[in-house]
Formats: sequence, C-alpha cells, structure tokens
Amino acid sequence: MPDPIAPAAPRYIKLNPADNVAVVASDFGLPAGTVFPCGLTLLDRVPQGHKVALTDIPAGTAVRRYGAVIGTAKQDLPRGAWVSEAKLAMPEAPALDALPRGNPPAPLPPLDGYTFQGFRNPDGSVGTRNVLAVSTSVQCVAGTVEFALERVRRELLPRYPNVDGVVALTHTYGCGVAIDAPDAIVPIRTLQNLARNPNFGGQAMVVGLGCEKLIPERLLGPGAPPTDVMRLQDAAFEGFGPMVDAIYAMCEARLDILNRRTRETCPASDLVIGLQCGGSDAFSGMTANPALGFAADLLVRAGATVMFSEVTEVRDAIHLLTARAADGTVADALVREMAWYDAYLARGGADRSANTTPGNKAGGLSNIVEKALGSIVKSGTAPIVEVLAPGERPTRKGMIFAATPASDFICGTLQLASGIGLQVFTTGRGTPYGLAAAPVIKVATNSVLARRWHDLIDFDAGGIATGAATIEETGWNLFRLILDTASGHTKPWSDRWGITNALALFNPAPVT
Ligand code: CA
Repeated sequence: MPDPIAPAAPRYIKLNPADNVAVVASDFGLPAGTVFPCGLTLLDRVPQGHKVALTDIPAGTAVRRYGAVIGTAKQDLPRGAWVSEAKLAMPEAPALDALPRGNPPAPLPPLDGYTFQGFRNPDGSVGTRNVLAVSTSVQCVAGTVEFALERVRRELLPRYPNVDGVVALTHTYGCGVAIDAPDAIVPIRTLQNLARNPNFGGQAMVVGLGCEKLIPERLLGPGAPPTDVMRLQDAAFEGFGPMVDAIYAMCEARLDILNRRTRETCPASDLVIGLQCGGSDAFSGMTANPALGFAADLLVRAGATVMFSEVTEVRDAIHLLTARAADGTVADALVREMAWYDAYLARGGADRSANTTPGNKAGGLSNIVEKALGSIVKSGTAPIVEVLAPGERPTRKGMIFAATPASDFICGTLQLASGIGLQVFTTGRGTPYGLAAAPVIKVATNSVLARRWHDLIDFDAGGIATGAATIEETGWNLFRLILDTASGHTKPWSDRWGITNALALFNPAPVT
C-alpha cells in the first residue's frame, strides 16, 4: 500500500509495449511542466484519464493504445503533449468480410465448489430474487396497472415476507406500431421473454386493454390459461374500481404461490450474469473492465452463463471477437449482428461515431475505437460460445454475445429478456442506474468517483490505476461480490434506495 501521507508521484499508465500514448492516472490530472519518474515532461496540462504522447508522433502517423491503432495524428504531437480528441482522426471500422476466425482459444479450466443461494424454478432456471411481475400488452394500461400495484404493495406485500417486490412490465409498445413489419419481432420477443425472467418464478400474468394490436395471448404463448389474462375493456368491469380489484386479485393468487419460494444452495453454474458499461471514461478499459473480465472468466470457469452486449461498443473490435468464436456458426452470427446494426444505423443516417458522448470525451475517450477496445475487455478471455439476436434466450452456458444497442436502459431490458438474474455495470463518469427486476452491481473505474458517490457505487476498481490493487485480486473480490449479491446477502445501493430505471424496448420497426 502507498503511504497515504506522502505526496503521490505523478503517474501514467501504458497498457501495451507497442503504445505511443499513455493515460494520466493521477487524481484531478497534472499541470504542464510535471516531470514523471521516467523523465517525461508534460508540455500541456493533461486532465486525469486523458492521453499524453510518449514519443514524438508526426502528423499523419498512427496513435496506438491497447497495442491497437485508435487514430491518426492530425498534427505533430511532440513527446509530452496532451493527445486530445480534436488532434485525432478516427480509423475505419474493420471490414466484415475478412475477419480472423477458425482458431478459437482453448476452453478455460473448470473452477469447482462455488455456490450461491437462489430461487430454483420448475423449469430449472434459478432466480436471484423473488419478484411478482405484471406484464402489459400496451401502454394504455400502464397507469391503471401502476395504480393497482401501489395498492398491492401497500396492502398485500407485507403479508408475503418471502416476496421481494412487485413490478409492472410497462412499455410504450403494443399499439400504433407496424406489428407485422419484419423487425417487430424484436420488441415482441423481448416482451415474451421478459415475462420468463427467472427472477419472476414463472407466475406470468398480462393486463391488456382490448383493442390493441399486440394481443395479450401472444405474450404468454400457447397453452396459457385464460386466468393469466385480463382486459380493461371487458364488459364485466363497471368502471375503474372493479378493474383495479381484478388486477389486485390476480396478484394475490400469484403472491400466494411466490411466497412459497425459498432460497436454496445452487451451483454457480446456475447463474446468468449480464455485463454492461455506461458513462465510460479512459479508466474503464484499464481498471473496471479488466477486473470484470477476470471475474467473467471465473464465472465461465464455474460453469455460469455470462453475456456481454452493446453492438456499437464492440463493432470496432469485432476482429478480436471473431477470433474468439468457438466455431464458424458463432463467427457467422457475430458478423450477422454487426452487419444488421451497420444497416440499421445507415438507415437512420448515422454511423458508429454517434456512440461516444460528451461525457466519454471529457473522461478522456477520444472516439469509439478507443472506447470499443476498452469495452470488450470486460468479456474476459473465454471462447464465445453463442450469439443472441436482441431479446433471445441462450441455449448454452459460457461466454455469450447478446446483441443490443449500447443504451443503458435498452441493453438492461434486452438482457433481462435474455434471462439475466443480475447485471454488473461499470462506470467512470457515474450513473445512478438500476433495474427493478434484477440487482445491478455498479463498479467505479476510478476511486474519485467511488469516494464522491459512496452511497451509489457498490465496488471500486480504481485501486488498479493507483497500483494499490491488482486486476486479479480485484477480479476475485468482484466475483465474490457477485455470488453474495445473487444470494441476497448484499444489496446493491440502487436496491437499498429503491431507485430503478424504466424498461425501454428496442423497436427498430416503424411506428404508425
Ligand atoms: Ca451502456
């Protein structure tokens, strides 16, 4: 441990021997004239997380980080200069027709003996919490459902101590949409699979209006009993009160069943964990994401299902992912999802450069290439065994790419549909993000954020940047926190405060 009293020596982090830039690690950045222990002198003030040239980089030559080209110098960058976003030209995305493949890494060695306390379901899946979910087929019913659920929470929930909560799966879909358009499968499949999330214990129910395009039965699938569906326009309801009473009664019947669920010891291989980042900074790829990648490898070794997502944040590093595809089918599916998203963005007159935010850039990330290289580190090193189209459910255990937009809320919603019981979320800039359906562990990339947001951030990976901790020990600690949180022993801050974000469906099809 460094002496907390002594002034810290100025510090930068160079990730790969081939890099000609490094990232300033010192809290709050460093002024011009700072001399590093190696003799490098800063020519400009460089904010924390931003890049400094380690050698003279002539205009028109490559700037390298992570051992990869993140851009071309637009002007001469002398040794010690701040390499800011404005001084870099972004490279082209890798072409999809000539990607490396066919030589996947060997499977990781098994890791035995790790368990958690989960809620086992009749279909074999295991939940990390015990929640009653009320599906809705259309936005028209959302206010009524929330009104009824407020009463359920107030009057009924205290009588069912084994149930953690009641959530309404509300959304803006269901009517006023081109329901037969090819891409309508995405929001419809998402709503179908959301209701099957293992945290909901298989107790589905749907509230519909009656005249909407998306009929409630379509969400439940064939064979669902009629008692699982109600429609507000049903002639039996004389006004608002009886509608609320009916929702209340449907909830009561399901709470009775859910209250019989209790936690039991389950192998870690029953876990389904989602990985995401949001509000990234230059430390994301050096601290939180590598630690999460290490933890993801431990989860995969323990037999768990782990999914990473966010197409626009992997697109520029896709050559590194096809090289990890377990077989040709997986590589083809990775290319399919990238090509689909390229076309989707082009249709909207945008490209992948639309991803980086002002906050990313203020945090030191110059462009989407640099962001992608730091983003995929969270997927660890295991072979990629399956690729899911948005909202699909996995059929394999191991590391999976679940295609989603990078939007935090849409990615969270789609990963819930794909069956995650818990999400790990890395952030450099900070966000109070949370999900009602599953615990979210928020990991800070830097200790400045972790200290300032001491009652929102669950785990500080910033010690890796200061040299106070290693990636390995931080990864092990995160792995243990994941098991503890899945067991309900540790509650993430967003759950303690009860702050959650609304579900957000991905609807690439037209709205009418
Ligand atoms: Ca995100």
